[in-house]
Amino acid sequence: MTIDIREASRAWTLEALGVVAGYGGRTILHQLDLRIRAGEIYALLGANGAGKTTALSLFLGFVAPTAGQVRVHGVDPVAQPGEARRHLAYIPENVALYEHLTARENVAYLLDLAGQNAGADAIARALAAAGLDAQAFDRRVGGFSKGMRQKVAIALALARQVPALLLDEPTSGLDPQATAEFSRLLQLLRAQGVAILMVTHDLLGAAHVADRIGFLDGGRLVEEVAAAGDERFDVRALHRRYAGQADALERSA
Ligand code: ATP
Repeated sequence: MTIDIREASRAWTLEALGVVAGYGGRTILHQLDLRIRAGEIYALLGANGAGKTTALSLFLGFVAPTAGQVRVHGVDPVAQPGEARRHLAYIPENVALYEHLTARENVAYLLDLAGQNAGADAIARALAAAGLDAQAFDRRVGGFSKGMRQKVAIALALARQVPALLLDEPTSGLDPQATAEFSRLLQLLRAQGVAILMVTHDLLGAAHVADRIGFLDGGRLVEEVAAAGDERFDVRALHRRYAGQADALERSA
């Protein structure tokens, strides 16, 4: 019996297997194995320069591996970038929106760019589900806070019904209330079966929201722990180790 690789990798919405990648001949990621299934939140932690953003860039097709393979919902993002990105929403640290358009207009326009149509009702439902105050729907996003911008971006992901979400430092600069609300939103997306990969420095935030946490050190995944079961993470022990890693890095800088 032959196994269809595309079908087999569907079990994992986001998959990087044995990936070696970098920039201009300099290797940043060494044999990276990362797999996130539908309805799972995975937090990738690591010190500055560990390769977290590079790992996200793999799934967006911005960085091509020199070895190994990357799949987004079974699609190779280097060979078929458009097809892979159709299955993805990416929320960078600072969400870029059209400043002179309203929240509602941004979602409508960005959906249109993604080749999707949604009626006014569906857009309003997505903005409400993302927790944006109804009074803000028709305000220009120019004056929006970081938390409000994220809500617009999440509304877009909800309206697009993507199976995978990538987030870069989503909680940096958010106040505690906005962070709590953001965690609630991630749970909502998880309940809808979205595979979520977030890169962050925030161990406590990650431990609060993630199903699994992976630690990148010098482009290597040195540890992976789960929120439940026998390997359930001990946040204090992780913090000691994680802080130790950061200290070691600072000493060597
Ligand atoms: P941070 O927490 O500071 O954002 P990170 O873990 O996300 O760090 P990356 O941004 O992936 O790390 O960077 C990993 C390494 O790759 C760093 O040494 C960085 O200088 C290098 N790098 C990142 N982007 C590029 C690029 N476009 N061209 C060349 N080198 C790059």
